[in-house]
Amino acid sequence: MTARRDGHAAYDVVIAGYGGAGAAAAIAAHDAGARVLLLEKSPAGGGSTAESGGSFAAVLDRDGAIGERYRVREDGVSHGGTSLWNLLRENVECRGIEVRLEVPVTRLLTDRGRVSGVVAHGADGPVEVAARNGVVLTTGGFGYSADLLREWVGAEIPAFGPPGRNDGSGLRMALEAGAALWHMNAVACGFGYRVPGLDAAWMCIMRSFGFLMVDATGSRFLDEPAVEHHAAGHALIVRDFATGEFGRLPSYLIFDEATRRAGRRRRLSQAAGLDQRAGLVATVQPCPFGTTSTSSARPVRGSR
Ligand SMILES: Cc1cc2nc3c(=O)[nH]c(=O)nc-3n(C[C@H](O)[C@H](O)[C@H](O)COP(=O)(O)OP(=O)(O)OC[C@H]3O[C@@H](n4cnc5c(N)ncnc54)[C@H](O)[C@@H]3O)c2cc1C
Repeated sequence: MTARRDGHAAYDVVIAGYGGAGAAAAIAAHDAGARVLLLEKSPAGGGSTAESGGSFAAVLDRDGAIGERYRVREDGVSHGGTSLWNLLRENVECRGIEVRLEVPVTRLLTDRGRVSGVVAHGADGPVEVAARNGVVLTTGGFGYSADLLREWVGAEIPAFGPPGRNDGSGLRMALEAGAALWHMNAVACGFGYRVPGLDAAWMCIMRSFGFLMVDATGSRFLDEPAVEHHAAGHALIVRDFATGEFGRLPSYLIFDEATRRAGRRRRLSQAAGLDQRAGLVATVQPCPFGTTSTSSARPVRGSR
């Protein structure tokens, strides 16, 4: 289908994706004097930003390291990403920045090697929107693209963010326009559950130390409480040297007061359906770290 030209297209900056990065880019461009258009594929903005923990680091000193971490409070209380998103959204709205919802961007337009606009799909079909000074791609990550996950991360891992939004379309558009991407395997990924029938994963945060994690063979593979939450991917996306399989996807979490008592672990492993219980029993041994650890693997220490 041929895209028609946008009738009132006289934008300096067109931004694809109305999450936190898109809102921040829109505010900055607007305050620098640009006429800005925000295009969002979903019925509402927010993206992962609105569902996040909302804790962010602010660079107060450009020459120094990243500064303090902050949260946005509403009436003295922080509702995590919701509060952060409310602040950003209100700042977009009070500036009168134009936002079009349910208008996915599908392609970048180029003119003599320069990105000159986008093709977006509104209710009336595809439309070309010109951008005099540039297009900003803030379409989030690729947690809902099975093929990009397989290609760049090596394994299909479920995402925590809102289902269907971050499908990597902005990254594909950038590639098609000739961009080079870097570091695409650098996922920050927490421990979570995949619930049958649901697209998004559920985050797993243990509040006490009475738990173990084991792989498909029932073998413990890390010093669980020491793993920094966002580094879970480094612990889980590991191929078994012998089989080539991802033996830690899924892993099994065993949590019960009784797991700390001798003789109990075998029955718990049976309950989890683990068929190589010898591995579990052999790898859960007292260790010098105060809890228990695997006999062979080094504990992974995080930076909490
Ligand atoms: C559960 C959870 C907790 C988190 N907690 C924290 C935390 O506490 N601190 C922290 O720093 N980070 C946290 N993160 C990570 C953080 O939320 C994200 O890195 C950040 O929100 C990404 O912002 P973004 O604007 O790039 O993407 P998003 O906020 O996801 O926005 C992208 C937007 O682009 C839209 N879009 C996608 N494709 C298109 C298209 N083709 N056309 C138009 N629109 C499109 C999407 O619908 C979406 O609205 C968390 C993430 C999750 C999932």
